[in-house]
Amino acid sequence: MTILPQNDTGCGWLNLLKKRDVSPSLKQNINAKWVVIGAGYTGLCAALSLAEMLPNDEIILLDAEHAGEGASARNSGYLVDSTLNDGHLSDTGLSQYKQKYELNLVAVNFVKSLIKKHNIECDWNECGKYYASSTSDNKAKLDNFMKLLDELGLQNEFFDPKNLAHQLGTDFYKMAVKVFGGAMLQPAALARGLINALPANVSLYENTPVLNISHDKKHHISCQNAQINTENLIIAVNGFMPNIGVKADRAFPLLLTASLTRRLSDAEQKSINNVGEWGVLSANPMGATLRYTADNRLMIRNTVEVSKSLVLSEADLLNRKSQHLKGLKIRFPFLSDDVIDHTWSGITCISANNANIFEQIKPKCWVVGCYNGGGIGLAALFGHQVALAANDKTSDIQRLIAARPQPKWLPPQPFLRWGVGAKLAIDRRKATQEV
Ligand SMILES: Cc1cc2nc3c(=O)[nH]c(=O)nc-3n(C[C@H](O)[C@H](O)[C@H](O)COP(=O)(O)OP(=O)(O)OC[C@H]3O[C@@H](n4cnc5c(N)ncnc54)[C@H](O)[C@@H]3O)c2cc1C
Repeated sequence: MTILPQNDTGCGWLNLLKKRDVSPSLKQNINAKWVVIGAGYTGLCAALSLAEMLPNDEIILLDAEHAGEGASARNSGYLVDSTLNDGHLSDTGLSQYKQKYELNLVAVNFVKSLIKKHNIECDWNECGKYYASSTSDNKAKLDNFMKLLDELGLQNEFFDPKNLAHQLGTDFYKMAVKVFGGAMLQPAALARGLINALPANVSLYENTPVLNISHDKKHHISCQNAQINTENLIIAVNGFMPNIGVKADRAFPLLLTASLTRRLSDAEQKSINNVGEWGVLSANPMGATLRYTADNRLMIRNTVEVSKSLVLSEADLLNRKSQHLKGLKIRFPFLSDDVIDHTWSGITCISANNANIFEQIKPKCWVVGCYNGGGIGLAALFGHQVALAANDKTSDIQRLIAARPQPKWLPPQPFLRWGVGAKLAIDRRKATQEV
């Protein structure tokens, strides 16, 4: 594997939280019963559930960097049940969409139950979200989407430009469908809450990248300064799976960047009608995601790219920041050039056909991840379910997961990078107006 690059320090969601004390890295060889690799939502929920199920066992949780500071802190905070950019025009598509919706709904409710159980404060808001378009090109797509939502009995509402401008404080969009369901949240605060909820029988080791994994009757994990032999292993590194030689022909990483502004001033808030919190997802797969937060900041994410190194140079990050500023100023021309306070990147995981990974790849060795565009809810749910599965406990939810399509084969590198890069470039051209 290649050594993982350090996360950048620009994540606004993280920077708004109090600093936490980082756990030490692993420096001695150990024999373990349970090891979970990766401390994002998936690994944290797996460790949490294992620890609760097996109060007398020690659960080792490893992360290459700081726990919960990967995609799980860096995402846009949309906990979604229904999603727009899924094929649902054929019968197969429709039944697959329903399955996916059902799973997402279970996941939303699971996250909600975790937040309640562990008193996690993460700015949870069930304000709904808008699927919006700045042109009339997406009218048919949005009409179809509304039909589908009606069929599923999901509350939705169409917004024309005037009503939309009133709701969002910008006249940039020409139409939108508002969907109720799911929630908006502060992603890093959710991850932090899960870390704080870990019971004493979870031993968390941070700054402990796994360099190699081999298997015989046990699983052998090599880290820089330690070797672990374990009876049971759960791999929850999501976009980094190919980096450790796992599922490299089924899952691949994409690099996204986002920015968060300072709080808008009273005058700026007034100029957008003092609107309340909202979230906008684009009707175009490559269009910008925007949020107006409860504390009056704007967040924008409008880049997706293939990155060989899984990290951006400072110069590249600055360049993405200027794209974020452009996206903000098209919508809110009154904003000053220095409105952005935080800019960051994050790695997410995609498969060729929007499928997820939930698989026992060797006896007592499970891999979970690859949530494509989504992942807040599914990561938490898959983490919990893999803990059950690893303890031979089956469930209806596992059957629902198993009924979903399996990820299709992907070509090896560099062909994969080139192919995905070309597809993104085509989608990007279709969404130039939605920067
Ligand atoms: C910018 C951005 C916006 C997004 N927006 C949304 C959204 O609005 N809604 C939504 O549902 N989803 C969104 N996502 C996706 C979502 O964040 C992920 O699907 C989810 O966080 C996955 O959680 P995870 O725990 O599986 O992975 P991660 O959070 O990536 O955690 C994996 C962990 O594994 C660790 N790791 C990696 N390699 C190793 C190794 N070799 N050894 C030890 N540890 C290792 C990493 O350090 C990391 O902490 C977004 C993602 C990004 C990047």
